Amino acid sequence: MKVAVITGISGQDGAYLAKLLLSKGYKVVGIVRNLNQKFHGLEYLGIFQDVTLELCDLWEQASILRLLGKYNPDEIYNLAAQSSVGLSFEYPIETIKFNFVSVLNFLEAIRLHNSKTKFYQASSSEMYGIVHKLPIQVNSPMHPLSPYAISKASAFWTVINYREAYGLHCCSGVLFNHESYLRSGNFFVKKVIGEAIKMTSDDTAILKLGNLKVKRDFGYSPKYVEAMWLMLQKDKADDYIICSGKSITLEEIVVYIFDKLNLDMGRVIIDKTLLRPTDIEDIYGDNTRAIQDLGWDYDLTFYQVLDMLIEEELGNYKN
Ligand code: NAP
Repeated sequence: MKVAVITGISGQDGAYLAKLLLSKGYKVVGIVRNLNQKFHGLEYLGIFQDVTLELCDLWEQASILRLLGKYNPDEIYNLAAQSSVGLSFEYPIETIKFNFVSVLNFLEAIRLHNSKTKFYQASSSEMYGIVHKLPIQVNSPMHPLSPYAISKASAFWTVINYREAYGLHCCSGVLFNHESYLRSGNFFVKKVIGEAIKMTSDDTAILKLGNLKVKRDFGYSPKYVEAMWLMLQKDKADDYIICSGKSITLEEIVVYIFDKLNLDMGRVIIDKTLLRPTDIEDIYGDNTRAIQDLGWDYDLTFYQVLDMLIEEELGNYKN
């Protein structure tokens, strides 16, 4: 039986990836920083009992070496990160340090313990920042616009360095925004759907949002985790863009959600305090290599994803 370690198992992608790997017969070891926390995602997907949870301090290489000694995993999926761009402006040092040092600790530990272990790093389209040419390819120039983006770019180049210098089977999936019911409530799409549903039963409620003019390439998390697994099944490690290939404005998303729920757009207020110091205007990627090389498939429009998310949120909504 293959053994996979997943960090960030309490997060959105961690839960969907665990479900996918369990369905493929893997033993899944989920790394946590507190065993007493709630594992809402694993419980929601009905797999909490099937995952082995293990404490590991990703700040400490010794802790990771102990983990590798105990399980000798075939594959490691490193999804743990301070993952919010907005929060990274409030906690730049913690974000940059953790999102970089944890990756370096893993790569060093793999090199020292068993260089055959395959490593997947959760990378981000945010690394590209100021964009000169669209769609984004994996080798497009990077100009990070946030502490989060800087942390992910540093980790991205570290993965390449360990692949080139030591021949490790390590790679980065450069994922564009992807959503699901399990997304935390501080992220845009989940927040808008959740708040809009509450507004349907409270005529006085309003929704405060930041810059709605920016455009992003949005996709669906349960489909994107399939690409992570496919990347580690290749004989030769390489980095891939994982995206839908199209961008839409945040405003189009709000209008669609409000329209579906029969809400008046006059109840949306632009709050200047929610604007970011710097922001990407428009970004979308090219997923051709992922489709051709990995055999990944993706054909959902974001409106189809929104339909699924609104329906799931309404189904779970308790007034
Ligand atoms: P998420 O739901 O925010 O989950 C983040 C995970 O990281 C949680 O399990 C969290 O654990 C863990 N974590 C955070 N800080 C940690 C620390 N100091 N030590 C140990 N664990 C820590 O993120 P996601 O949406 O699943 O994304 C997964 C990965 O993909 C992240 O690395 C993210 O940056 C990257 N990514 C996401 C997107 C997207 O659109 N979702 C796009 C590109 C890249 P706790 O529960 O203990 O806080």
